[in-house]
Amino acid sequence: MKKLTVLSGGMGGARFLQGLLHGITAGSLPGVDADAEVTVVANTADDWWIHGLKVCPDLDTVMYTLGDGIDLDRGWGRRDETWSAKEELAAYGVEPTWFGLGDRDIATHLVRTQLIDAGYSLSKVTEALCRRWLTPVWGDRVRLLPMTDDRVETHVAISDADSPSGKRVVHFQEYWVRLRAEVPAETLVFVGLDDSSPAPGVLDAIAGADLVLLPPSNPVVSVGTILGVPGLRDAIRRTDAPVVGISPIVGGAHVRGMAEQMLASIGVEVSAGGVGRHYGARSAAGAAGLLDGWLVDERDADQVAGLEQAGIRCAAVPLMMIDHDATAAMAAAAIGLVAG
Ligand code: GDP
Ligand code: CA
Repeated sequence: MKKLTVLSGGMGGARFLQGLLHGITAGSLPGVDADAEVTVVANTADDWWIHGLKVCPDLDTVMYTLGDGIDLDRGWGRRDETWSAKEELAAYGVEPTWFGLGDRDIATHLVRTQLIDAGYSLSKVTEALCRRWLTPVWGDRVRLLPMTDDRVETHVAISDADSPSGKRVVHFQEYWVRLRAEVPAETLVFVGLDDSSPAPGVLDAIAGADLVLLPPSNPVVSVGTILGVPGLRDAIRRTDAPVVGISPIVGGAHVRGMAEQMLASIGVEVSAGGVGRHYGARSAAGAAGLLDGWLVDERDADQVAGLEQAGIRCAAVPLMMIDHDATAAMAAAAIGLVAG
């Protein structure tokens, strides 16, 4: 295998990609060339505009992580960050004050916003930003593509006794960062998603892949939104490459983040099997399934038989991304499921 395509959210996807690239380089992935190319199709439905800046959290998390600029403890934003601009904005009383824009990080958003204002597409801008972060480390071997160049935003409806309708709709960032996903997400609205088109290169990266991977990213607001870009799901169903995913749900709970709340809001069981069946078997006739293989954690071994019965090759292995070796071993197990 020379070409791998990965659909990624932020932290879960980025950490998986790091381990995957470690495994590729070490030659420890069965059937994968040590100089194989990886194309990342990243979620952009978390994107938003704040203080006049366009911020793309998942693109930046992948870019900083693979470019060795990430703050490892936080898992997002820049290492050695300072927060003077945020404090100065707060001193002016400018809302919102709850969103963390670090001084170093702001430079990225300034460059991005200027290029967008000058008429460049998000994919062109991302390519330019990656010349600083990815090219020096990975050369041409890693390509980061936004899922779409169109504006797509996840919004969340929550209960609000003060509102005449009893409900209020907030941007995904407000739900996650300000409200910490502590109130139920009653409805998810993916603004602009149905009218979006895949960014240049995305469909080709899927059609031309030797392997398509779904990392343990959020199945609803990361992978789910990527799959919601018209044409993307079909491309995955039609590609000659095997498609294999890794469960972000371990022992009936998410490892971090808010996959539990998001799955509940779309009525999907919070379990490794529930997410596997939600993606569905590609082999199932007439259905819209995507997966040839699905990896669950060893704690969820009791779900393997049911998934196999649903037409998805399945195995139970350790799925905690504790270090690069452990994550590379997960990638190897995922590939082992569908290779040969
Ligand atoms: P986000 O955009 O930053 O929320 O990141 P992603 O959508 O890419 O990934 C979030 C998901 O990663 C969550 O649902 C977590 O459960 C999952 N996750 C994080 N760490 C691990 C891990 O070590 N193992 C597994 N299996 N899943 C993980
Ligand atoms: Ca995200």
